[in-house]
Amino acid sequence: MRKPAALATTINTDETSQKWLIDTIVLDPGHGGRDPGALGADGTREKDIVLDIALRLGRMLERDLGVKVVYTRKTDVFVPLHQRSKIANNANGKLFISIHCNSHDNRRASGSETFLLAPRLTEEAIRIAEAENQVIRFEENQEIYKEMTGSQYIVAAAAQSTFLKESEDLAAMVEKHYTKKLGTSSRGVKQGGYYVLMGASMPNVLTETGFISNRTDLQKFKRASYRQQVADALFLAIKEFKNKHEKQILGN
Ligand SMILES: [Zn+2]
Repeated sequence: MRKPAALATTINTDETSQKWLIDTIVLDPGHGGRDPGALGADGTREKDIVLDIALRLGRMLERDLGVKVVYTRKTDVFVPLHQRSKIANNANGKLFISIHCNSHDNRRASGSETFLLAPRLTEEAIRIAEAENQVIRFEENQEIYKEMTGSQYIVAAAAQSTFLKESEDLAAMVEKHYTKKLGTSSRGVKQGGYYVLMGASMPNVLTETGFISNRTDLQKFKRASYRQQVADALFLAIKEFKNKHEKQILGN
């Protein structure tokens, strides 16, 4: 289990510091394959939008930050939710970002919001995560999630508490940079019982970049230049997080 940054500041041997560097970032484009995600009024699929944003973001992270980028999917394939955090853990990822588009029955809903794993699985946390968790209907082994929401949830959430502060920090930076770069309104940093975040052993967030159900947002998402701007905002947030976090670790 990792120690939170605040406790690690006194440890500054080279080897220990190396362990804490944000050298591997895991990008998780939501949905894929038989799971299209949310659909726009004209049939535009969330899975295509978020994959494109993730690939743009990953290229910038590799090129401009010199980090290793691991994707849970790089093509239009189906990946079960519980496998996504496993991919991140196996890659020894230092950050996990799940990228999505929001959808609401109220077509006027707009703006971005970014989520952390809720420390307790309250009714509210279940309700918030419902839309994104629904995708398990496409999965064969759904039983696994019953275990995840039982006693395993408490264990997973407790493990996550060690880097909750960092996840919160990253989520706040993501929202700040969306507002600055995209001029969209932020619906804030929230908590939910997201299956995809449950197993991640690193700071992690799920970000809803905007509403595909909103006609204006949908037109924006369809433009490559706008998807690039979303990627730019995420890039700036990750860069800010990396700089701040590594400064704390290295104590300079
Ligand atoms: Zn989604």
